[in-house]
Amino acid sequence: MASKDKPSSAKRVAVVGAGVSGLAAAYKLKSHGLNVMVFEADGRAGGKLSSISKDGLVWDEGANTMTESEMEVRCLIDDLGIREKQQFPISQNKRYIARNGVPVLIPSNPITLIKSNILSAQSKLQIILEPFLWKKSDSAKVSDANANESVGGFFQRHFGKEVVDYLIDPFVAGTSAGDPESLSMCYSFPELWDLEKRFGSIISGAIKSKLSAKNEKRGETNGSTEKKRRQRGSFSFIGGMQVLILGNFSIHRDNVVCVLSLVEIRNCRHSLMHWSEDWSLYCTSNRDKHSQDLSFDAVIMTAPLCSVKEMKITKGRSLFPLSFLPEISYLPLSVIITTFKKENVKRPLEGFGVLIPSKEQQNGLRTLGTLFSSMMFPDRAPNDLYLYTTFVGGSRNRELAKASTGELKQIVTADLRQLLGVEGEPTFLNHFFWSKAFPLYGHNYGSVLEGIEKMENSLPGFFYAGNHKGGLSVGKAIASGCKAADLVISYLENSSDDKMLKQGSSL
Ligand SMILES: Cc1cc2nc3c(=O)[nH]c(=O)nc-3n(C[C@H](O)[C@H](O)[C@H](O)COP(=O)(O)OP(=O)(O)OC[C@H]3O[C@@H](n4cnc5c(N)ncnc54)[C@H](O)[C@@H]3O)c2cc1C
Repeated sequence: MASKDKPSSAKRVAVVGAGVSGLAAAYKLKSHGLNVMVFEADGRAGGKLSSISKDGLVWDEGANTMTESEMEVRCLIDDLGIREKQQFPISQNKRYIARNGVPVLIPSNPITLIKSNILSAQSKLQIILEPFLWKKSDSAKVSDANANESVGGFFQRHFGKEVVDYLIDPFVAGTSAGDPESLSMCYSFPELWDLEKRFGSIISGAIKSKLSAKNEKRGETNGSTEKKRRQRGSFSFIGGMQVLILGNFSIHRDNVVCVLSLVEIRNCRHSLMHWSEDWSLYCTSNRDKHSQDLSFDAVIMTAPLCSVKEMKITKGRSLFPLSFLPEISYLPLSVIITTFKKENVKRPLEGFGVLIPSKEQQNGLRTLGTLFSSMMFPDRAPNDLYLYTTFVGGSRNRELAKASTGELKQIVTADLRQLLGVEGEPTFLNHFFWSKAFPLYGHNYGSVLEGIEKMENSLPGFFYAGNHKGGLSVGKAIASGCKAADLVISYLENSSDDKMLKQGSSL
């Protein structure tokens, strides 16, 4: 990232939280010549990204793959110089769902979907007819009337119940640990929500917007022959997702303060005590255990909102109460890594992984899904082993997420036996429990976004970013961090002008 016009005296910005959103924000601010300090409560940077290497095995306990749909992600990967470490899965289009207790390949395009027997003839007919049944003329009316609609309700209107049960349900469980009824359509899939408003039909809308995006891209690339063709789809990095953090972290190593507790955040602008800096953060460092009071011109907060609600923020001399921030429902998830000797897996599948629809619980399957990690990335395990990453819990089964390692071992092994024919016990097992893996973008999520906006509007120089705002994926969290950094940059430029004016008028 090219360093833009650097301010003459570097302003100081505090970034709270060293997950991908915080580090992406910090990177952008630093590239702009600002003085950045990152505060992280955990003993490590990365947040929901955590890669482990042990005894020839490599696995991820948080996010396993990401995409490059957001422009901010493409820029960050290039700027960090980690593109050569990018690792694309083998056969990434081969993804499976369980149907009647066995894995079935998910069709990768509409023609194979119609040819496949994954759906009944009636559901296929409903898909074929969708562009004709959903007209633009009544789309705005429908979307407005269904503003609180669930993900399940939305897709059922367009494609029927079977599509929700066998395609949407496993997809949302696999990407957000949620379920189609609890998730709000307009907050979880704003792009599709908007497609309905614009085109009526989701299928026609998707085709039309894809075509117009292609045309725009063609126009852009015509002028530049240097633009490289990039591989599309999900990817990780050699060594796991943490490469994204390490690339970023090394830049901030000297500026990351690991705090035991962030005791207080003070907005001093109104106290008239501080002239040059508006914010002070009082915290206890876990490096040397001493308390510090550090001054900043702006703050980017990326800690989960449940942590923010517990923070003490003062504005001037008074406490700034955060009680207006609504309670958020978080989904718990257990991630279980297992390895099996190849000779003990009787029906191994090539591809990305298998997702389990809720309905398949009636066929004895209790996990949410399994990634075929070493099938995708063969360097993640020695040649004689398969490494699998299985998810348990989410909104489908909050209690099971909290089960003991022993119980989860039984559950995961039973599912893998049924789906892939594994025999015997895993040769290795690792269990990681996320008590708050994902915030649930539920029907009241509008009030959460309003709360964030109110907090930002009431506290000048305080910006919120991360996966509680604008999307759950790694890419969306990065984009959110970069956008917050842009807001800070323009805030600081404007507030410098203000101060110059005030100084001038008081002379
Ligand atoms: C199991 C799992 C699998 C996933 N799989 C995928 C996937 O395959 N693809 C994908 O795109 N996304 C996936 N995600 C989602 C994605 O990883 C996250 O949404 C994203 O990483 C969130 O980044 P963030 O920076 O917004 O938040 P976080 O990563 O949560 O970072 C917030 C940081 O703030 C810190 N913090 C909290 N309180 C304080 C405090 N008081 N003071 C200072 N710091 C504090 C936390 O310790 C943390 O480091 C997955 C998530 C999970 C849990």
